[in-house]
Amino acid sequence: MSYSEILESLGLTTSEISGGTLKITSPIDGAEIAAVQEVSAADVNGIITSSKRAFNNWKAVPAPRRGELVRLLGEELRAAKEDLGRLVTLECGKIYEEGLGEVQEMIDICDFAVGLSRQLYGLTIASERPGHHMRETWHPVGVCGVISAFNFPVAVWSWNTALALVCGNSVIWKPSEKTPLTALACQKIFEKALARFGDDAPKGLHHVIIGGRDVGDAMVSNEDVPIVSATGSTAMGRQVGPKVAARFGRSILELGGNNAMIVSPTADLDMAVRAILFSAVGTAGQRCTSLRRLIVHKDIYGELMPRVISAYASVQVGNPLVKGTLVGPLVDQESFDNMQSALIAAKVEGGKVHGGERELTGDFPGGYYVRPAVVEMPSQSEVVKTETFAPILYAMKYEDFDTAIEMQNDVPQGLSSCIFTTDVREAEQFLSDIGSDCGIANVNIGPSGAEIGGAFGGEKETGGGRESGSDAWKSYMRRQTNTVNYSRELPLAQGITFDID
Ligand code: NAD
Repeated sequence: MSYSEILESLGLTTSEISGGTLKITSPIDGAEIAAVQEVSAADVNGIITSSKRAFNNWKAVPAPRRGELVRLLGEELRAAKEDLGRLVTLECGKIYEEGLGEVQEMIDICDFAVGLSRQLYGLTIASERPGHHMRETWHPVGVCGVISAFNFPVAVWSWNTALALVCGNSVIWKPSEKTPLTALACQKIFEKALARFGDDAPKGLHHVIIGGRDVGDAMVSNEDVPIVSATGSTAMGRQVGPKVAARFGRSILELGGNNAMIVSPTADLDMAVRAILFSAVGTAGQRCTSLRRLIVHKDIYGELMPRVISAYASVQVGNPLVKGTLVGPLVDQESFDNMQSALIAAKVEGGKVHGGERELTGDFPGGYYVRPAVVEMPSQSEVVKTETFAPILYAMKYEDFDTAIEMQNDVPQGLSSCIFTTDVREAEQFLSDIGSDCGIANVNIGPSGAEIGGAFGGEKETGGGRESGSDAWKSYMRRQTNTVNYSRELPLAQGITFDID
């Protein structure tokens, strides 16, 4: 399929993808594939007004009926899976298998949200007063602003939107300025679901706003957006979080990670090597959950590392649309430059670098393909503690298990973590109060590739937000405590008397 056929397959029209101010190049070869219209920061206020109006109608629609819209969205995503998966590959450069996987995740969260639409449960609570009962109920909040990153251009939207919609909120989505085409395609898919749903979905229930930081900031600063779910770098979260907090809004922050694997002397090394490879070089190291730090027991380091280094040397780097490719390009030159700077810093800090060179410059002079890098480090120095969004894996030795856990936790980020061990004591300690300090902790599987059933997110500089499964839906609703007096008396709590004659 040609690039233009990929765009056409999702119904994107020439006028929608040409003549605009935002130029989109494919990471595959650097070719310009579209130029889309941007909204101005000034336009955003009008869009928020429209979204607020839609919310006021949508919140009155019963939650299971709201779920029906998300069910239809899931159906439309199933029908569009291959086309959307291919567009994800074209626009952000991840391999087609992973593009498909990303769309599958969208379908999965729709299924989850449909069930959830009948399960927005609250508690009943015993009242201390006779003739009273208490309960806790959950209600829609308002406009939910979604800001997303380039590397999961569509899944993150669906995690937020499927939940926000069944919870009764309206949605405004600002995708990454690097990946607006997939967002426009999702809007088309959403409109198909809306057309089948019926009139009780109000106009303006979902908006896509294309633009850069200023456009995101206009939403972040507007008090008519009570929830801002922002996915991206920690630098972005440092700006967005305080702004939302200053107006007493709620933010769900999903920021950078620096994810580690501890490999203990009892680990199944065949499994560990496969997990290391997928989680460190998959998506060309451009996942928030990518494996970046390998903490290996000194007694098996000599056996494990040659296997990892040779697997890295042979992994297939190439065009992400072609079957068999495991590692596609980096998103752009800036990303490549950041990777090279980190490798230079790692050498200065005593690291021994394997790989990391640019490749395929003959076939793709405008694409930034790299051989994934493994860097053997003498200690967990500054560069190791920094998230570089590229396929660099820092490997270090440990001697005793407590030190391994200390190293795992001794970074500013707290997203995902894992251990490979067959020692149940080590596994349980890793998952205990004195183990990993991350939002995600796994045993005998890598740190990347979470399922939608669990709550997704992390601690410390990762921002503390939770999205997707479990009870993450509660972040998209307001909690109300209700007390009902069905007696003929008016007793006060705590036995207080307050008599009036
Ligand atoms: P980025 O921070 O450059 O941009 C992310 C989004 O934030 C974009 O839409 C951008 O326009 C917007 N933005 C940036 N500054 C803003 C501001 N001041 N106000 C409003 N909006 C602003 O990130 P990126 O390069 O697209 O993505 C890579 C980063 O995202 C990595 O750090 C990665 O770990 C992180 N990430 C985290 C998760 C997670 O769930 N924790 C998921 C994916 C990516």
